[in-house]
Amino acid sequence: MPVSMEELVRLCKARGFVYPSAEIYGGFRSTYDYGPLGVLMARNVKDAWWRSMVQLRREVVGLDAAVLSSPRIWEASGHLKNFTDPLVDCLSCKQRWRADELPLAPKRPAPGAPEPAEEMVPTCPNCRGQDFTDARPFNLMFKTFVGPLEDEGAVAYLRPETAQGHFVNFANVLQSEHLVPPFGTAQIGKSFRNEITPGNFVFRTREFEQMELEYYVPPADASRWFDYWCSERFDWYVRYGIPREMLRLRHHAEEELSHYSAATVDVEFAFPWGWGELEGIANRTDYDLKAHAAASGQVLEYFDSATGQRYVPYVIEPAAGVARAMMAFLIAGYTTDEVAGEQRTSLRLHPRIAPYQVAVLPLSKKENLSSFALEVLAVLQPVVMCDYDDTRSIGRRYRRQDEIGTPLCVTVDFDSLEDKAVTIRDRDSTQQERVPVDRLVEAVTSRLAW
Ligand SMILES: [Zn+2]
Repeated sequence: MPVSMEELVRLCKARGFVYPSAEIYGGFRSTYDYGPLGVLMARNVKDAWWRSMVQLRREVVGLDAAVLSSPRIWEASGHLKNFTDPLVDCLSCKQRWRADELPLAPKRPAPGAPEPAEEMVPTCPNCRGQDFTDARPFNLMFKTFVGPLEDEGAVAYLRPETAQGHFVNFANVLQSEHLVPPFGTAQIGKSFRNEITPGNFVFRTREFEQMELEYYVPPADASRWFDYWCSERFDWYVRYGIPREMLRLRHHAEEELSHYSAATVDVEFAFPWGWGELEGIANRTDYDLKAHAAASGQVLEYFDSATGQRYVPYVIEPAAGVARAMMAFLIAGYTTDEVAGEQRTSLRLHPRIAPYQVAVLPLSKKENLSSFALEVLAVLQPVVMCDYDDTRSIGRRYRRQDEIGTPLCVTVDFDSLEDKAVTIRDRDSTQQERVPVDRLVEAVTSRLAW
């Protein structure tokens, strides 16, 4: 049975994945805090991304650019001018909405008017009103001031995407790394957009974390690399546990494309409310490098010493969101089944994504058992992230570990003191096996299949 949003939000809060931010003050406008399990999982999502984008590649290097930087970046990139949403106010209740996201409903006739035609018009989700102000462009960048003076000369913006931090460092990276196209820079970091209507839990928030690759290619090869990254990124989600049938690639129509993009494909996931974007893969062409070259007066080109040719590479950009990926893994992993006649909920998370890989569970709190269990914990901690739990009955502790997605439980019982062995229990099959402690690391890592 697929998980509902209500249940997902409940589980995230109860188990310490995601809390509403500033809850003791009544919350704060669609912002969220990550709890003990949420930080572990988010870190694992980012590590899995970094592993496939940087560690397992020869031609991609890392980067971490500043969140606050020169406003000239946003002038050159077009964000100051173009990064807007159409904003309207409802004339009845004064709520603000994105004009292009208003739901449609049958037009209500004016009092005394004849029978209405079957016309559908934008309708306020709050009060059902159908009269709005004209749409006006609303820039999504958060404005702030750098230094002690709050004047126009001190204006800066929180970055709305990590991408521009790559482009302004293009020449630096080329100089320090001697890379030959195709090559890429990878970056994980926070971005900020003053969304008019955030929503759907952590799906759309004003502060969010991006995982972006900018992949520089010879212009003639751009469409081939675009296709490559579309399938590569689709497969990444499958590799980490999302069934293919819950994913699709959606090509943007011409009128949907951003001002810099020649082609965009979204990797979409079947969220409880419908298909939603996990990641966008865009062919940004040479738009950004040329714009920054023109605005800065610097040369942003690749010089091929073999052929003596200079050119501005095209950029293929796979850009993913950490929170959206987390949500998708949680939703896809959520499983209910029956174990020994009892209903159980489990999260079938990939071992690299699960917050904990192993839980060490001593059968009782008795002194001699605890000290042996802590020795077992010390053997595993350098290798994997471990939980340690000695409260309540063993059955309830298994249920808890199933519900937070821990792939393996290691149980220490009184026989362990004699035979120096422990029991490994598998989350999905619930099968158990006795393993000597001196072979435990090997047994655990082989079961986690990394
Ligand atoms: Zn209204």
